[in-house]
Amino acid sequence: MTARYILAVDQGTTSTRSILFDQSARLVAVRQLEHHQHFPRPGWVEHDASEIWRNLCRLIPETLHDAGIGLDSLAGVGIANQRETTVVWDRRTGKPVHQAIVWQDTRTSAFLESLADKAQSVRDIAGLPLAPYFSASRLRWTLDHVPLAREHAENGQLLFGTMETWLIWNLTGGTKGGVHVTDVTNASRTMLMNLRTLEWDPYLLELFNIPKAMLPEIRPSMDRYGTCTGVLEGVPLVGALGDQQAALFGQTCFDAGDAKCTYGTGSFVLLNTGPEVITSSHGLIPTVAYQISGQEPVYALEGSIAVTGSLVQWLRDGLGLITTAPEIETLASSVADNGGCYVVPAFAGLFAPYWRSEARGVIAGLTSYVNKGHLARAVLEATGWQTREVIDAMNADSGLTLRTLRVDGGMTANNLLMQFIADILDATVVRPMMSETVSLGAAYAAGLVTGFWPDLASLRRNWHRAAQWTPDMDPVRREREYADWKYAVTRTFGWIREPEPD
Ligand code: ADP
Repeated sequence: MTARYILAVDQGTTSTRSILFDQSARLVAVRQLEHHQHFPRPGWVEHDASEIWRNLCRLIPETLHDAGIGLDSLAGVGIANQRETTVVWDRRTGKPVHQAIVWQDTRTSAFLESLADKAQSVRDIAGLPLAPYFSASRLRWTLDHVPLAREHAENGQLLFGTMETWLIWNLTGGTKGGVHVTDVTNASRTMLMNLRTLEWDPYLLELFNIPKAMLPEIRPSMDRYGTCTGVLEGVPLVGALGDQQAALFGQTCFDAGDAKCTYGTGSFVLLNTGPEVITSSHGLIPTVAYQISGQEPVYALEGSIAVTGSLVQWLRDGLGLITTAPEIETLASSVADNGGCYVVPAFAGLFAPYWRSEARGVIAGLTSYVNKGHLARAVLEATGWQTREVIDAMNADSGLTLRTLRVDGGMTANNLLMQFIADILDATVVRPMMSETVSLGAAYAAGLVTGFWPDLASLRRNWHRAAQWTPDMDPVRREREYADWKYAVTRTFGWIREPEPD
């Protein structure tokens, strides 16, 4: 076989990366470019989808050049992407008609509140809570605010997609016959797909007033979408997963009961639940984990936490208490405990398990005893407590008890935090050698389709443990502090009393 590499594209919230993997799942070359974050109003977050596409066109040849290889060395390409971000473009010009509206954007909160009486039916069909986080309300916003957009969407001139759809369309030819498809994991986050039939749902399309003509075809995550043109001329495009699903796949969580948490800007716990959709009565989201072409889908339960690493950034940039993120560990280690202090980072409301958009952050339990060391510890602990709440919800929904959590992401460099998480979960926490799980998941998806890797077992053999933390905390202290955390959370509720204007 001359094709010795798989190319993974990781299109993230802050940057796009192009990464080459070899057959041992070793990272051979990587290139990365950040794109601009646009904040036109408080709570609004936008990206320029054309900038992201241009970045990718630059990154790919550079990555191949770094590795000293040509296109004929590539077995295939797979994509992992920021989920829920909404792009609408004109199929004739290839130009977006508006900036992409990012998953963090809260402009549609008031509109969604007006649909409160439909919340249960939406949850029954799509599995999702009525939150601005998902694509549907932002797609509707675009159609309502861009002149003639709805008319052009109805006659099929405008196309909708999440980021993988936009990139697949461009990579496979764009205006000259690009393929308009979405992978099922991304589709499951739009709030327009029926989670069981894996088809666009007529009730949801009507509720959000979305013309079906603009929607991509829903396809398995591992499938032959098309052959690339341009920068990847002739290379098969054969895999796509939402970034968190990609991390689950990259961590080789293939069996029901396997779970991972990715600790980055926000944190995302996913538990593989096998072929069943487990509806949550504890604020989690059932979602598609992955689907191999010709096979039934595998589902997951997800606990999404909006603010974790970004709280550390706030300590650094907002308060100036540290100058680099790793310094938080030194500062937190200067004290033995949190001094009674709890930081609940509901900066833009709370995600799982509460889903309260009207909550705002608090620092609770302040006394004159509390110093910056305690505050640093409380900031780190906030990530731990939020994980505990999500894992408790998972255990309750699934009837299983989590024994091991696989972790990845930037925050896993923090030993104090990882030990704290093991302590308060009363579970083992393990981190693999290859921490680039998102791009690895995209590579695995593409590699399975092309036969680069023969089966799931061969992927499992690539997983090697780099670090492990085992629980070591007095259970009485653990439960007392957890109760204090939960009480602090209730103090955040109801802070926003007027809906923010559209
Ligand atoms: P993303 O993929 O979401 O951009 P990363 O996985 O790169 O995130 O992780 C970056 C995040 O991790 C940042 O928010 C940063 O504050 C946090 N972080 C990085 N190193 C540490 C550390 N040693 N301790 C705590 N947080 C850290």
